[in-house]
Amino acid sequence: MTSWQGNIAKITLPTSFAVGDVNVYVIKGEALTMIDSGVRTDQSREVLEQELNTLGLQLSDIEQVVLTHHHPDHAGGLEFVSDQCQIYGHPTNQRWLDMPESFVGQLTQFFTQLARELGVPEEYYSKLIDYRGPGSVITTRGLSACVGEGDVVPGLPEWRVIETLGHAQSHISLFREKDGVLIGGDHLLAKISPNPILEPALEPGAERPKPLLQYNEALKKLLKIPVSLVYSGHGAEITQIPELIQSQLNRQHNRAMQVKEMLAQSPLTGLQVCMQLFPKVYKKQFGLTLSESVGQLDYLEDLGEIKHETHSGVIYYSVR
Ligand SMILES: [Zn+2]
Repeated sequence: MTSWQGNIAKITLPTSFAVGDVNVYVIKGEALTMIDSGVRTDQSREVLEQELNTLGLQLSDIEQVVLTHHHPDHAGGLEFVSDQCQIYGHPTNQRWLDMPESFVGQLTQFFTQLARELGVPEEYYSKLIDYRGPGSVITTRGLSACVGEGDVVPGLPEWRVIETLGHAQSHISLFREKDGVLIGGDHLLAKISPNPILEPALEPGAERPKPLLQYNEALKKLLKIPVSLVYSGHGAEITQIPELIQSQLNRQHNRAMQVKEMLAQSPLTGLQVCMQLFPKVYKKQFGLTLSESVGQLDYLEDLGEIKHETHSGVIYYSVR
C-alpha cells in the first residue's frame, strides 16, 4: 500500500516489459508533482488511480510531471494527467514524444549507417528501426519547459536537476541537498545495470554519443555528491550507493576485458562481438544487446586497448 515518506510517496505500476514494474513518485512540493508516469495501458492507469486514492488524491490533482527520461515505461502515461498539468524534462525527450518526420528520417539514417558499420545484415535493419512499435511513446503531450544540469524544477524548490545521461540521452535525476535523497530514474538500479542505449545526437548529423562512456561518467558524478538514498525507477531503494556504483563499474570493466580477449583471437565486427557476448538472446533482444556490445567497444577504444579499421563501410575491431 502506498504511503507518504516525508513528502514523497512511491507508487509501483505494472508494465509488460521484461524489466517488470516501474516506480513513479509523488512529491508534495509547492506544486503537486509526479515523477514519471508509467506505461500507457488501462491496467497501469487503474493502479495509478487506486494508489493516488489511498493518498487522498486523484489524477486531476497532479499539477506537474517531471520525466526522468523518455522511455515508454516512464513517459507513456503522460496522457493520463490533465491538460493543465505542466510537463518538465530534459530537452532530448521532446523528439521522442512528438516523433516529427524529421526525427524519423534522422533515426532511419542513423541506424541504417550504424548497422552497416557494425556488419549487421540488411534483414535485421527493421529490428533497429521500429520507431512506431510498442516501444514508442508518441503522444500529443509535450514538454512545457526544459530542465537541465543544475536547474531547480519550478514548483520543487528543494530539488536540483542532475544530468545522468547514458541509459537515455534525455536522462536526468533529481537531488535534494538537505537530506541527500536522489530520485534516480533508471540511472541506478538495485538489481540490474541499465543498458546504455544507442541514440543519435540531438543535433542532426553530429557525432554519435557514446552511451556507456556517458553512463560511467554520470555514475562517477554521483560519487562526488552526498547521496544518502536513491529512489529508483525499478525495484527497491538504494542506500549503499558508493558500493553499488563501484561494483557496477567493476562488472562492466570485466565484461569489456572479456570482449578484449575475443578480439585477441581475431578482429571482429560489432555484430560478431554481440553474437559472442549474447549467443542466446541477441536475436530476441537485438537492439539492446547490440547497444551493450557497442558500449563495451567504445569503452575499450577509449582506454586505448583496441583500435578499428573500416573496410567497405564495415568496421573491424582488433587489439592494439
Ligand atoms: Zn529506461
